Amino acid sequence: MINNPVSLVIGITNQCNLSCKFCFNGKHAIKYSNSIKRGVMSLATFKEILCQAKGFVSHIELGLFGEPTIHPYFIEMVTLAVNEGFSVGVYSNGTLLNSEISQQLLQTGLTSITISVDGMTDDEYEQIRSGGRYHIVEDNLKFLLAYRKKIKKNLPLIGIRSVLFSDTLDQKKIKRRFVDRLGVDFISFAPLDNWNGTVNINNDSTSFTITENRYSFNRCEFPWMVLSVNWNGDILPCCDDYMGKNILGNVNKQNLQSIWNGKQLKTIRLALKSRSFNQIIKNTGCASCSMLHRKSIPKKLEFNLILVALRETWKRLLDA
Ligand code: SF4
Repeated sequence: MINNPVSLVIGITNQCNLSCKFCFNGKHAIKYSNSIKRGVMSLATFKEILCQAKGFVSHIELGLFGEPTIHPYFIEMVTLAVNEGFSVGVYSNGTLLNSEISQQLLQTGLTSITISVDGMTDDEYEQIRSGGRYHIVEDNLKFLLAYRKKIKKNLPLIGIRSVLFSDTLDQKKIKRRFVDRLGVDFISFAPLDNWNGTVNINNDSTSFTITENRYSFNRCEFPWMVLSVNWNGDILPCCDDYMGKNILGNVNKQNLQSIWNGKQLKTIRLALKSRSFNQIIKNTGCASCSMLHRKSIPKKLEFNLILVALRETWKRLLDA
């Protein structure tokens, strides 16, 4: 028997107000990603997920394939999940977190908020995150941090996440701006991703497809760690499969726990573990995923930055 997932990732919508260049909403999206139906999760489906997740997972993350703050019941959903006893993390681009929503969100008792930020000026930001403005995100971030202080709460932890476009990205400069100057609790870096073959990140859409001669691919750990649910209830083994090439079932018909321990996910795990071309092609929809071909991430530096930020947070908690 495998351990339960570390986290359940729920996509309450796959719609977004930005069109970032590295995203399936952006200019490098491969044409057929436009054929994906967009929508928002119903409250009934969300409640069904919470019901199935109780006793099975303890941590829920909102933010999969879309911007959760645009959901009309965003605050209600966070509140419901917190009241059911889950620790809840929210991933947002931060552009719509105005003072009113931020105040409501901080009152829910959630555990963490991760704001995706790329660039440190409006020009830099807009080149990557089309449709947004850096200064608005920074103002929203400052408000979140100030309001948490005002209401004397230690949680949620508030941090940022940047896409690691290249090894030359100045991680130390990012740390100086966000940890030292603004006082965020953590920074993380997400490697550039092709969302299981949906975004062209190499000017060659086929370059990430496994071929028989490419045996040196990584092992993906997602199906051992997370389970994801898309806005329409579809269950997926990871947070990368935007096109739904590995749909395992639907929460309105199947149960999360039986899917987690079920035959289809077991077969996917075995195929990924084997790193065998034939097994991956035959038993998974993962063949085009950059996760299997990614260059190594400078984990040491990333880990150090997170540690620095958490050490500061710990000091703040002790001083409080
Ligand atoms: S390799 Fe498969 S399971 Fe892993 S992230 Fe890619 S699509 Fe998801």
